[in-house]
Amino acid sequence: MRLSSIIIYVGVAIASAATLFSCSDGTTFTAREKQLIGTDTSAAIMPLYTTDSPSETELLRKVAAPLTAKDITSDIYKVLRHRMLCTVNDPDNPGVGIAAPQVGISRQLIAVVRFDKEGAPFEFYPNAEITFYSPEKKYGWEGCLSVPGQRDTVLRSTSIVVSYNDELTLEPRTDTISGFTAVIFQHEIDHLKGILYIDYKESGSTSPISGGQERDSVVEN
Ligand SMILES: [Zn+2]
Repeated sequence: MRLSSIIIYVGVAIASAATLFSCSDGTTFTAREKQLIGTDTSAAIMPLYTTDSPSETELLRKVAAPLTAKDITSDIYKVLRHRMLCTVNDPDNPGVGIAAPQVGISRQLIAVVRFDKEGAPFEFYPNAEITFYSPEKKYGWEGCLSVPGQRDTVLRSTSIVVSYNDELTLEPRTDTISGFTAVIFQHEIDHLKGILYIDYKESGSTSPISGGQERDSVVEN
C-alpha cells in the first residue's frame, strides 16, 4: 500500500470518528441515546428497562448525567419527553411517575403526576434533586415499572423541597411538596441516583402483588 493511500485511509477514519462523536447540534446526548430516542415525534411507547435483565439493571443502577441548557431546549429532548409521557401512560402498564433511566436514558429527567395541583397534570423536571427531606416520615405502598410484579411499603418523608431547572426559562427553581406527590418525587429522584425502592426493604425480599389487591392503592412509578 502506498503512503498516500494510507494517509487517505487515516483521514477517512478520523472523519468517521468525528461524525460519530461530534455534537453538531450542541447537545450532550450520545449517539446511543439519540438512536434510542429517535427523531419521530409521532413515536410512542419506549421499551421499559427492568430488573429482569442484567444489562438493563446495570443502567438502572447508574447515576444519571445532568442535562445542559442546550439539551433541554433541543428537539431530541422534546421527543424524549413525549415518549416518556406515552410510556408512563401506557394503558396496559400505567404509572404515576417515570424517570429517564427507566427508558434506558441515564439522564436527570423525571415526570411526576402533580396530584397536589388542579387537574393532576404530568409535569417534567430536568436536573431534579431533593434539597430537604422532612424528618417526619410515613410508610406507604410502592411499586415500580422497572421492578415488575412486586410491591412493598417504603418509609418516605412526608414533605420535601425539590430543586430543578424550569423547562422553558431554564432558571433554577425550587418547590416544596408534601403528601402523596412528595412520595412520587422521592421515588423518581432515587432512580436518578441508581436507587430502587426495593433497596429500602429491610428483610431483603419483596411481596408479589396478589390478585385481590387494589392497584390504585399502590404508587406504581
Ligand atoms: Zn420506579
